Amino acid sequence: MTAWGVYAAVVEAPASPARLPVTSPTAPVRPLVTSPTSPVRPLVTSPTSPIGWRLRDTEGLDVLIAGFPAGSWATNCYVIAPGPGQPCLIIDPGQDSIDGVHDILREHRLAPAAVLLTHGHIDHVWSVAPLSAEFDVPALIHADDRGRLADPAGTSFAAAREQLLAMTKNSLELTEPSDVQVLHDEQTLELAGMRLRVRHAPGHTEGSAVFELDELMFSGDVLFAGSIGRTDLPGGDHARMIESLRRVIVPAPDDLVVLPGHGPQTTIGQEKATNPYLVPLLADATVPRNAKGL
Ligand SMILES: [Zn+2]
Ligand SMILES: [Zn+2]
Repeated sequence: MTAWGVYAAVVEAPASPARLPVTSPTAPVRPLVTSPTSPVRPLVTSPTSPIGWRLRDTEGLDVLIAGFPAGSWATNCYVIAPGPGQPCLIIDPGQDSIDGVHDILREHRLAPAAVLLTHGHIDHVWSVAPLSAEFDVPALIHADDRGRLADPAGTSFAAAREQLLAMTKNSLELTEPSDVQVLHDEQTLELAGMRLRVRHAPGHTEGSAVFELDELMFSGDVLFAGSIGRTDLPGGDHARMIESLRRVIVPAPDDLVVLPGHGPQTTIGQEKATNPYLVPLLADATVPRNAKGL
């Protein structure tokens, strides 16, 4: 597993758009409960390490968010749960993510209820079949990306395909998990004691989706801190990406904390103010195409 750092998102709204991490300089730093055995530890933030614990105090519930960048593409894998000792959801278990997921499950005594996928690119779905099988849980992916689960090399971006085949010694044999459930736009998921809203946001792939959980958004490769997902890969479509940004991202509240598929966390407000793709969109100017990144 990739080296652990610790970051934590304090998710009350910053008083003003803040630089990453998402803590307002005026907001009181408060202790973060991380596990029953280490009752309180100081809030530590690191803008480069998308790993964290979050304390939610609405409804008197803690919500656990843990994550780490996995594999060659540093794809953020997240584990979310209502609290320690609870059912949990695994989001985007990519390459070499299994050990990291196990570490989180063990430390917090979590039991997976499902694996949630923001889209079907190989760097996000690499470990979904083994984890689904190990815990006998379904994998959830938008209907329009389901086909990628069974054809990871064929639908991977060209630049990565050679690397992918080399890494797997030309024997890439990822298969679709035995239980796949497809998602649709505006579906509400009640899983592991949490309620998530599914928003279909095509453009990076046909079946890209973002998941909203209270004041959090898991944005996959739709929106990053300072960028958006590239649209030149198979299934990519610049016009659809713009439409998704307009429909799903722009109307979202400024204080929504965004946990993306790669890189550090951000907020909707921060991105609307500075993201080189959202700024022109909001000004009705031409939005550049993105053919970089992941
Ligand atoms: Zn992707
Ligand atoms: Zn990705």
